[in-house]
Amino acid sequence: MTSDQKCDHPNFKATVDVARITSNTDETKVIAFKADVDIKCAECKESFVFVGLPQGLTQQHPTVSISGETMSAPIEPISGWTYTEPVMGYGVNIYTKEDEDVQPSQN
Ligand SMILES: [Zn+2]
Repeated sequence: MTSDQKCDHPNFKATVDVARITSNTDETKVIAFKADVDIKCAECKESFVFVGLPQGLTQQHPTVSISGETMSAPIEPISGWTYTEPVMGYGVNIYTKEDEDVQPSQN
């Protein structure tokens, strides 16, 4: 590929950094886990940004860095998963840039 050709991003390289968050008063006590994810095109090295996430950093929900290139998500081992509310539905809403007519669906 030459520099004047537009890359169609056929392959990707993802980096995931997983961290253990420890207590401020006891560094041996793990209080949470998080994963930071970055994705680049393996061919042209262009970064991808995460769409639809709020900027910031919290252990309440996934967020994105100011540049949009790093998603930071709280994670837990499945044995300690604390989400206990029943799942009433799983929403699927696929949107592409070519779609002007977004059709959300829910199962
Ligand atoms: Zn590319």
